[in-house]
Amino acid sequence: MIPAAPLPMQPRGWQQAWRASVRDPRELLGLLGLEHEAAAVPEAAVAAFALRVPRSFIARMRHGDRHDPLLRQVLPLDEELRSVPGFGLDAVGDAAAKAGRGVIHKYEGRALLVATGSCAVNCRYCFRRHFPYAEETAAAGGWTGAVAAIAADPTITEVILSGGDPLSLATRKLAELTGLLRDVPHVRRLRIHSRLPVVLPERVDDELLAWLGDLPWPVAVVVHANHANEFDAAVDAAMAALRGTGASLLNQAVLLAGVNDSVDALADLCERGFAAGVLPYYLHQLDRVAGTAHFEVGDDRARALHAALVARLPGYLVPRLVREVPGDASKRAL
Ligand code: SF4
Repeated sequence: MIPAAPLPMQPRGWQQAWRASVRDPRELLGLLGLEHEAAAVPEAAVAAFALRVPRSFIARMRHGDRHDPLLRQVLPLDEELRSVPGFGLDAVGDAAAKAGRGVIHKYEGRALLVATGSCAVNCRYCFRRHFPYAEETAAAGGWTGAVAAIAADPTITEVILSGGDPLSLATRKLAELTGLLRDVPHVRRLRIHSRLPVVLPERVDDELLAWLGDLPWPVAVVVHANHANEFDAAVDAAMAALRGTGASLLNQAVLLAGVNDSVDALADLCERGFAAGVLPYYLHQLDRVAGTAHFEVGDDRARALHAALVARLPGYLVPRLVREVPGDASKRAL
């Protein structure tokens, strides 16, 4: 008898693309024709929060432009080393809302799982850049602690996968979690917060789509793009494939000085996202996390930008302008 041929290995295209990410600021700047800027990159900022950028995201940056809005989101700067009053380590009150290992329960009916500490890109403005991922990861121990915390609270009807970036986990690992959640009768919705479909669209592969399509709950995928230039043909294809699974697609952006703090940039983002099948959801005021003060836009200016957006776009293309305030029952509208 002829032995059965081994099954072909599933290609791991996205993981290869992720591993090939640029981690050296000099290489990043060299790829953009900005090698002369390399001396200005502070080693201490890189040591405190490493640089990491997928190559396909770099390909969307403008060559030779040190003010490119995508580059600004990932390039370590001197300003990160400044200590600014009011900017701390846990700006959104994650520690006080802990409901289990890697489980954050802030809002009624919803539990957020810090699925992993990994991300495909390290955003310099990240609200969890000081989060203690080593101790607080829901995937640890085969998800059992996190699932037990959700199962024990029948008021939780929606599970939010967050991080880090939950889609940086292998699909097998995500399936392990949803396999356990299927046995929790009060879970009725799944939400996934991920920047991967934007910064590493290769992640949206057949295995991920099959997993999503097979889930027993309505699914919302909340992606994260801050500028229209983050969309390209590969991102469009990834979004179309995600929508093909029946998932609803929303975008949350952060209002960032030097990236999207103009009416034109915000309107372009909302319109470009919609062209890719993604509705605007939130425009967040920056969470006041140490090392990010140079991205902050004042509240008055934020309100003025938002009012101008309301005047320019149809209502369904205008995100809600919000701030997360620790202890509040929901995001606070500005
Ligand atoms: S993808 Fe999200 S969690 Fe990861 S570094 Fe960026 S903002 Fe932070």
